[in-house]
Amino acid sequence: MLWNKAKKQAWHRGHGTPGTPQKHRIHRTQVLIIGGGATGAGILWDLTLRGIDAVLVEARELAYGTSGRCHGLLHSGGRYLVKDSEVARECYDENQILRRVAAAAIEDTGGLFVYLKGDDPDYAAQWAAAAKKADLPYEEIDVAEARQMEPLLSGNVQRAFRVPDAAIDPFELIVMNVRGAVERGAHLLTGSRVEKLLTDSRGVSGVVVKDMHSGESYSIEAEVVVNAAGPWAGQVAALAGISLEIAYGKGTLLVYTQRLNKCVINRLRPPGDADILVPAKSVSLLGTTDVAVQTPDNPRPSQEEINTLLKLGEELVPGLSSRRVVRAFAGVRPLYDPGESGRGASRGFAVIDHGKTHGVANFYSVVGGKLTTYRLMAERAADLVAAHLGVSAPCRTRDVVLPPPLDACSQGGDSSPLICECEMLSEKELLQAAEKLQTVTPEALVRSTRLAHGPCQGTSCLYRAALLLYREGYLSYEGALEFLRYALAGRWRGMGAVLDDAQAKQLELAQGVYLETFGLETLKNEL
Ligand SMILES: Cc1cc2nc3c(=O)[nH]c(=O)nc-3n(C[C@H](O)[C@H](O)[C@H](O)COP(=O)(O)OP(=O)(O)OC[C@H]3O[C@@H](n4cnc5c(N)ncnc54)[C@H](O)[C@@H]3O)c2cc1C
Repeated sequence: MLWNKAKKQAWHRGHGTPGTPQKHRIHRTQVLIIGGGATGAGILWDLTLRGIDAVLVEARELAYGTSGRCHGLLHSGGRYLVKDSEVARECYDENQILRRVAAAAIEDTGGLFVYLKGDDPDYAAQWAAAAKKADLPYEEIDVAEARQMEPLLSGNVQRAFRVPDAAIDPFELIVMNVRGAVERGAHLLTGSRVEKLLTDSRGVSGVVVKDMHSGESYSIEAEVVVNAAGPWAGQVAALAGISLEIAYGKGTLLVYTQRLNKCVINRLRPPGDADILVPAKSVSLLGTTDVAVQTPDNPRPSQEEINTLLKLGEELVPGLSSRRVVRAFAGVRPLYDPGESGRGASRGFAVIDHGKTHGVANFYSVVGGKLTTYRLMAERAADLVAAHLGVSAPCRTRDVVLPPPLDACSQGGDSSPLICECEMLSEKELLQAAEKLQTVTPEALVRSTRLAHGPCQGTSCLYRAALLLYREGYLSYEGALEFLRYALAGRWRGMGAVLDDAQAKQLELAQGVYLETFGLETLKNEL
């Protein structure tokens, strides 16, 4: 079991990528899953519950891809009601299941769909009719009630519907799936990139993995390989000579320093830019845009997208454009709808048995979909894989409750000093998170604890965190410096995209502390 094995192990970085020195290499498994996003993590959990031996291989770290760069909305289905009632129903059903089995990652915020004066009234009428027909629990409420629920809402709201949307933390969700699986004997390899698919006369027989820390490559034999590489699924399929038409839709999100709304606010109009405001723990996220891009690598928010979000956000919540935005980030949607792209493309998903479609046996791809439907995607993929292996055990992920991402320690009387005042994170909580992580990488720590997520973006907590992790033996001296460099570069990149007056001052202060006082000069080259 590799979980927990990294304690007292230096954090390293190779080729600009946080990697895991894999001391405990695995050479054989029944099923090898490529991609540590929600889909891959869900498949690992599902197969493990069926008693199937499985390994999850992730090139970077858990939630590195689209799952870690999304809005965090557990859809109720409302957004897809008019265009695709099947996807709407799937979202609603999964929303209800996840509330039971993944409650620790979900905040039941509820949601509103609001129709604004000037938006298409026919669309609102169509939406209301579709809601009735779908027999989903969407209820029209008085505008006054909606404004009481969300006082910042525009005065132009003319109709409002209450829907069972919720906020979901994608990082926690993924960690819960992986933790549950690993505690039952599955394996996770992070910092391990699949570079080649092995084949024999029966089809795909395994993979060649590159350890991103050491640069060494080695083989893992597998009876079945599942490609759950999200927007990179086309690249992975190409390793088997298969062409998969994945369209890349970049979406940019703005993060506010404060939580501005209690429930999810959706603008009731055909899906467009800046029409969802999601409350996420101590902040709110406004998004998104949808821009066709050529590659899933390194998506960056553009100034044009940021301006669009600010302008349109203002229509939904007046004053939004003058609130403090702490950072902007972007993710890439893996859209699988041959012939369609952008917002026209389906948010449905496909599980492809390449033995049937391309004559490449023992190889499956899971493409498209949403975070909200990750469990269903995993179930469908695991059904096919189990049948292929002759395993009759049914799916249990609808009923088995996932373990929490971390064991709560604050309830046990945590009197340790605060490390991050913005997010009220204690030393004890940080160390507990480090203990649970396979490798203490900044992204993994930052995401699992919300360290440096607040208004100061790490100015006053990251050096204290690095020092604590060094003192407690989770990071070497060099590892602690690398931790700082990498974590700060990530924070500053997001801040740099939204430099207004307040953010510029904050960034200048942070750079004064780290570049001048601590002399982290080389960081300048990484921004
Ligand atoms: C801006 C934006 C907002 C969104 N908001 C929402 C939302 O609010 N609600 C919702 O339900 N959905 C939302 N989505 C959609 C949702 O985020 C994605 O559909 C989902 O997260 C995809 O998960 P995944 O596991 O399939 O892919 P990913 O999360 O991208 O995971 C794929 C993983 O594969 C790894 N990988 C790639 N190649 C290799 C290789 N060769 N070897 C090993 N590993 C490899 C990558 O590093 C990556 O970690 C949003 C998407 C975007 C872009």
